[in-house]
Amino acid sequence: MQNGSREILRASLIQQLSAYSQNEDEFLRHVDHMAGTQGDQIYPVLLNILTQLEYQEEEAETVWRNLVQHRSEMMASMNRPVNLVTAVCDYMLTVQRAMVHPKVVELNLFEETHHFSKCDSLTGLYNRTCFEEALKTEAARCKRHQSEFSLIFLDLDHFKKINDSLGHLAGDYVLKSLAKLIQSEKRAEDIAARFGGEEFILILPGTQKYNALILAERIRHKIETMELSYEGTPIQVTATGGVATFPLDTDIIAELVDCADRALYRAKHQGRNQIVLFSEDKRHNCRMDLIGPIKVQELGMKNTQVPALGRIKDLSLSGVLFESQSPIALGSRIQVEVPLSSREQPLVMVGKVTRLQRSGSGYDVGATFLHFGDQDRVEINKHFSSVMYASSPAH
Ligand code: GH3
Ligand code: MG
Ligand code: MG
Repeated sequence: MQNGSREILRASLIQQLSAYSQNEDEFLRHVDHMAGTQGDQIYPVLLNILTQLEYQEEEAETVWRNLVQHRSEMMASMNRPVNLVTAVCDYMLTVQRAMVHPKVVELNLFEETHHFSKCDSLTGLYNRTCFEEALKTEAARCKRHQSEFSLIFLDLDHFKKINDSLGHLAGDYVLKSLAKLIQSEKRAEDIAARFGGEEFILILPGTQKYNALILAERIRHKIETMELSYEGTPIQVTATGGVATFPLDTDIIAELVDCADRALYRAKHQGRNQIVLFSEDKRHNCRMDLIGPIKVQELGMKNTQVPALGRIKDLSLSGVLFESQSPIALGSRIQVEVPLSSREQPLVMVGKVTRLQRSGSGYDVGATFLHFGDQDRVEINKHFSSVMYASSPAH
């Protein structure tokens, strides 16, 4: 089970345990019901809450059934109600012999301590130790299921200046705000941690590289536009990020953070406030989804032409290659609008047609860029430092 979903299930079971504390038979029926809807994954989580022991799913169900049976037998032989924790203690000490000196502690108190030992006290995100554990678990799960996951490594830009100009408390406020933003942008199953000072890291289970890039870009953009103010002084922050994917970039888990860090380092050098994918060979590894077909329009004609819809084949800083239903004359000037999922407004570029070739029922048209707006140049630089291919949406 993914770490994030395990945490959600854990929290829900703890809530149920306390809600049904006066009626444990009802709780046991509720567990059966939950197993029916959520599957056997609930047994190891439940046993871990009650005993701190780790069981595999198959074994956990048997242990749980035996434990419930043990409780019934204790009640029958003593002729009085036996609560669940008493039965757990007796079963673990005398039948399973999985414990020798258990310590009794109030569940909520234990959970609180447990939570704080895993979390960073300033931001409430997971701490680095917990992140490293989650990373190992996720890698093992991926190897078992032959799936993949991505990491996003984020570092605030020029954060030292905020501390220096507005003080450490203002810096802390920025870190807390950023953590909140990350929490609200990530999916429930993603794991967000504070890696160090002003560095944050996310584990995205089951996520391919370009989908991680889309999330990273969204977070970067939200950070850039976040309206923060400390004691009346507005604060503007930006962040730089690196993305790496397991096992595409490396199947050695100890190297994965380093890959994301190297991408981050490159992004810092390319001017900050941008996301870069780790990739030995960018052109082969990176694709990015567009949210709609590109829109192409011929320029300089007396009558504005009906825009020709094109499916993009290749996109780079120097030009674009796309499919078109109708031919566009060599040498003509065209305007290309590319709808990127990370932006509300499409990128708009002006190019000169340098290639025209029949392809299937239409044409392949290649254009070399002549001009794009300043803002778009910044944007395209950002994307194409890392993304050299863009893929069209599924039709
Ligand atoms: P760059 O864009 O190159 O990342 O520059 P930077 O200033 O963000 O990076 P640098 O590593 O030089 O500085 C990081 C600063 O973060 C230095 C340190 O004082 C500050 N910092 C680390 N942890 C905390 C914290 O918990 N609270 C506050 N307020 N500041 C922190
Ligand atoms: Mg740093
Ligand atoms: Mg920094």
